[in-house]
Amino acid sequence: MTADRLQGWLRAAPRHPLPGLLAAGAAVELVRLGLGGGLPDLLVLLLLAVAWLLVARQDEDAHHTDGARETEAESFARILRGLSRSVSPDAIVGAIVEELGTGTGADHVSVVRRRPESRNLEAVLSPTRPGAPASRTYLPLSELEDPALGDSAAELAHVAARARRYAAVPIEPDADGDPQLVHLGLARSRPVLAAVGGPPAGEARGVPRPAAAVPLEAPPAVPARRRAGTGHASPALAGAEQRIADRIADRLRAEFGLRNVLAAPLRVDGRLEGAIVLSRRTAEPWGPRAQRLLAAAALEASAALARIYTLRDAELRAATDALTGLPNRRYFDEYLGLLARRRRAEDRIGVLMVDIDRFKRLNDTYGHAVGDHVLREVAQAIAGAVREGDVPARFGGEEFVVLLRNPGPRVAAEVGERVRRAVADLDLRRLGVPGVSVSVGVAVAERPDAELDEVVDEADRALYRAKRAGRDRVVAA
Ligand code: GH3
Ligand code: MG
Ligand code: MG
Repeated sequence: MTADRLQGWLRAAPRHPLPGLLAAGAAVELVRLGLGGGLPDLLVLLLLAVAWLLVARQDEDAHHTDGARETEAESFARILRGLSRSVSPDAIVGAIVEELGTGTGADHVSVVRRRPESRNLEAVLSPTRPGAPASRTYLPLSELEDPALGDSAAELAHVAARARRYAAVPIEPDADGDPQLVHLGLARSRPVLAAVGGPPAGEARGVPRPAAAVPLEAPPAVPARRRAGTGHASPALAGAEQRIADRIADRLRAEFGLRNVLAAPLRVDGRLEGAIVLSRRTAEPWGPRAQRLLAAAALEASAALARIYTLRDAELRAATDALTGLPNRRYFDEYLGLLARRRRAEDRIGVLMVDIDRFKRLNDTYGHAVGDHVLREVAQAIAGAVREGDVPARFGGEEFVVLLRNPGPRVAAEVGERVRRAVADLDLRRLGVPGVSVSVGVAVAERPDAELDEVVDEADRALYRAKRAGRDRVVAA
């Protein structure tokens, strides 16, 4: 008998006169026994005790069902409140884990999802006991595939390809809660570009954060056992997705040594993105209440994740130059502003201004479309020639800028030379273009009080000198 049950029975007792009467009878028998009663008194006492337990338990069950409905609605409302306040995918996961644990009697809640920048599925197993550490494992993306979902597989490949091109890697905010940086990735997997981002995304940019779109009402009923997810128009698709969620749950069972699991699919923007898996140590079947709560939480978490991904996507697009895929001028300026505010005395900052030589003539000779291709090639060459953490951007037209973090005394000019050579080495013959060159101006802010805008101007003046000196060269301020 658990302490919870005993408390329940004790709570139930005053609502019903019978347990009280039985308890009183038992007390009388107890006194008689104490005064030297015999075996019959003992038997009567036992009978009274059993009757008391049966009656109290029946009453408690009725009480429990009423209470369960109340707490289910409360749990769901708390999940929704947590989700509507969450501004990052991790916060969303945190918001559902705790409440799902208490609401369903699960010992662990696992959230399996594809992260936008990742090429596998990340599974985080969170114990519902507060303070216990989470475990993490990774599953292949193919776990999301199902032969019944032919079109979705192609869709997934497309998304994965896009994720490689624009990889968003949030860096944790520092102790002062200063904004995060978000790296934008180029075609290769290593993130080479950085742009200002930061949580909370909407608030930081003055974009109103959307409220939870779903009213606080009872979660949808779920007909079949072990079917916790859905919310789809097509039963076939829902069935396939539930199969995938169940398969993921089986993988987690093997991976983490879980006993009893219940799974629901996680969808974002109409695409399957993972699953939520409840688990517990006992073999007791999951009741309809746990299924309803999990279904509702999965649905709401999916909607909340979709909101955040849409916001981030819009942010990335606003930050990116459509032609070259590099950060654009607006983002470069914003990044420079952020850097100026966070700069420490010992931080040196270098600026390269890069301008394509005689680009007007190239356009005139080969056409604007070829000119656009050349711009893309040059952008890739520049991005490939600088380190991670350095920030190349399209400054405008055929002019690029690179921000160098903490370059050594001669390093900025060396990086400039590397950029110049990378462009000169481009093989553009398939475009019918023999080659292209750039001129580079270099400036470095050595003093902590140097205005970064002023350093950009200095680099621009150095670039002008490089042009006047005959182009295809690097000049330091
Ligand atoms: P310099 O060596 O002195 O830099 O000569 P330049 O011809 O490169 O310089 P100028 O600034 O006179 O010309 C820049 C040209 O770049 C003019 C413009 O048509 C072209 N341009 C700017 N943006 C784009 C673009 O997005 N696509 C294409 N194809 N051309 C562009
Ligand atoms: Mg030019
Ligand atoms: Mg120019």
